[in-house]
Amino acid sequence: MEFVSPEGLRLDGRRPMEMRQIRAEIGAVSSADGSAVFEMGNTKVIAAVYGPREVQNRGQQLNDQALVRCEYSMANFSVGDRARRPKGDRRSIEISLVIRQTMEACILTHLMPRSQIDIFVQVLQADGGTRSACINAATLALADAGIPMRDLVTSCSAGYLNSTPLLDLNYVEDSAGGPDVTVGILPKLDKVTLLQMDAKLPKETFEDVMELAIQGCKAVAQYIREVSPQNFIFLASVSQLSV
Ligand code: UDP
Repeated sequence: MEFVSPEGLRLDGRRPMEMRQIRAEIGAVSSADGSAVFEMGNTKVIAAVYGPREVQNRGQQLNDQALVRCEYSMANFSVGDRARRPKGDRRSIEISLVIRQTMEACILTHLMPRSQIDIFVQVLQADGGTRSACINAATLALADAGIPMRDLVTSCSAGYLNSTPLLDLNYVEDSAGGPDVTVGILPKLDKVTLLQMDAKLPKETFEDVMELAIQGCKAVAQYIREVSPQNFIFLASVSQLSV
């Protein structure tokens, strides 16, 4: 199948290095300590953060840092007519773990010992790249909850189809069977905190695709900084001195 036309356009009209339109809305769940909706094209997710609060299961309490928990799920209606795997399937468990580890890398957990932070992310509309959208939503929700962070963390995916690196794959591109790389970065600290790839790629191609995904993460970071209220503090410069 042709994913890039001779004119250099993708099926949805984008250029290979073009991201889908992104949009964020902060404070969508009033009962949560922090929340955000994040959209990347037709992919739409919501994140709600509770905490820092008392650890519910005392046996899991950590004396030197906060316990971070994360649950990823897909709403029944999120995939339209397509099949959705049952709640709590292997994919959801894996994505929950990946998002938890990614967010843990940016939260200053040692400042909140013996507490618990719960991050719930739910996919409302799935069109590829849901784990990236969830990470971007979780960053905003954590900041909205006033949770101290080293830096914001942003994520984007990129793939390789018809010998062309493509930024921010939608569902049709994602399910074409080509390589798909999901990256998460701490933009100010210039660190990669997440890298997932589900196929093999030659080294040079991998570097091109990875670089493209990093550029996508940086564009998301720029957008998040623009929409974040002044009182959202992402501590990159301070933490470099003190952490
Ligand atoms: N998807 C689906 N049903 C499912 C799981 C996924 O239709 O039960 C679709 C959904 O659009 C998702 C895409 O497949 O975005 C790619 O899923 P993948 O596991 O690669 O994760 P993602 O790209 O969403 O992070």
